[in-house]
Amino acid sequence: MKASEKIYEGKAKILYRTEDPNLLIQYFKDDATAFNAQKKGTIQNKGVVNCAVSSVIFEFLETKGIKTHFVKKLDDRQMLIKKVEIIPLEVVIRNYVAGSLAKRTGKPEGEKLPETLVEWYYKDDALGDPMVTKDHIRIFKLATNDEIAKVETLAKKVNDLLVPYFEQREILLVDYKLEFGRHPEGILLADEITPDGCRLWDAKTREKMDKDRFRFDLGKVEEGYKQIYERVVG
Ligand code: UDP
Repeated sequence: MKASEKIYEGKAKILYRTEDPNLLIQYFKDDATAFNAQKKGTIQNKGVVNCAVSSVIFEFLETKGIKTHFVKKLDDRQMLIKKVEIIPLEVVIRNYVAGSLAKRTGKPEGEKLPETLVEWYYKDDALGDPMVTKDHIRIFKLATNDEIAKVETLAKKVNDLLVPYFEQREILLVDYKLEFGRHPEGILLADEITPDGCRLWDAKTREKMDKDRFRFDLGKVEEGYKQIYERVVG
C-alpha cells in the first residue's frame, strides 16, 4: 500500500490517501509542539518511536477485543489505518494527578487518584482545546449521548488494560489522551498512543519518560522516548 495525496498535516503526523478509499496512511514526524504550538522543536527519531509504540499498543488492545483504526505497520514511520470520522473530543484518562489537573486542583503531582478520572476537552486548536462537560458535548452536538456513553466505557476498558500492561514494563501510566472515530464497524479507538500524548514515569524512580521532558526542558528528551521504545517494543 502506497501513500498518495496528502489530506491532512498536523503537528506530529501526516495523513495520506491510499488506493483504497477506506484506508489511510498515518505518517509520524519528528516535529514536536507544546503549549498549543507556542513551543516548537524536533525530537530526533520520535516518529520512529511513536509509530512502533503505537503499533504495538494498538495490536495489544485488538487482541483484548478493543476495536481500533490500526490495520498494520508499513515501515518505520508509517501505519495503515481505517478511515474514520474523528469525534472532536480529546478524552483524557487520569490515574495520578499531573499537568493541568495539578494546576486546577492544587493537588501535588504524583498523588494517586482513588478511581479513574475521565475528562473531556473540545478538540479545537483555535480555542485551545477547552475542557467541556457531557452536557456541552450533547448540547453543542459534538457527540450523541450514546456515543459519549460508548466512548467512556471504551476509555475505561482501555485504561484497565493499559495500566497493568505498562506496570509489567515498570512504567507508571499517569495520564493520557485518547481520540475516537466514527466508522461503519462502530466507534474505533483512533489517533495514537505514544509518549507524545501520555505521561509515562519510571515506576521506581518516577523519572518522566514522555513529552514533559520537551515541554519543560528537562533534558535527555530522546533518551526518554528511547526508554519507552525499549520497554514497550524492544
Ligand atoms: N494531552 C495531549 N494533547 C493535548 C492535551 C493533553 O496529548 O492537547 C495529554 C497530555 O500529554 C497528558 C494528558 O493528555 O498526558 C493530560 O494533559 P493535561 O490536561 O494535564 O494538559 P497539559 O498539562 O499537558 O497541558
